[in-house]
Amino acid sequence: PPDVAELGRATWTFLHTTAAYYPATATPAQQTSMRAFIAALGDFYPCSWCATDFREKMRQAGGVRDVDVSGRDGLEKWFCDRHNEVNRKLGKQVFDCRKVGERWRDGPDD
Ligand code: FAD
Repeated sequence: PPDVAELGRATWTFLHTTAAYYPATATPAQQTSMRAFIAALGDFYPCSWCATDFREKMRQAGGVRDVDVSGRDGLEKWFCDRHNEVNRKLGKQVFDCRKVGERWRDGPDD
């Protein structure tokens, strides 16, 4: 099986960075594509219990149709909230979602 922690760090880096560089105002086609991308993440994420949980949390948050894919701010917030749900489940510190731009767009690397 994959190294779940390594896979998680790499995936969150990819997801938060993708959200940080998503258009400020997404076109309808970009929004459709992003919804499909998020749904596919739930279908194919290669840690099966992580994927099951992700789909369940997404369902609780209103389903993929309810994800705010209108622009960068909303998408950053959505991924930050999902990541914080996993943080809570694993007993990790909850991240301040106001700092997501600083961490993943303009901030220094860590
Ligand atoms: P990570 O949690 O990987 O975080 C990396 C960096 O992201 C942090 O150093 C911090 O700078 C930043 N960060 C932290 N929180 C946020 C936030 N809310 N928003 C923005 N940036 C943030 N692991 C399991 O054991 N069980 C699971 O069920 C599980 N489900 C997962 C589901 C998904 C969709 C993903 C992508 C990962 C999942 N993981 C799961 C992996 C888990 O979330 C962590 O990636 C892994 O435990 C390594 O944690 P870490 O402490 O190195 O930092």
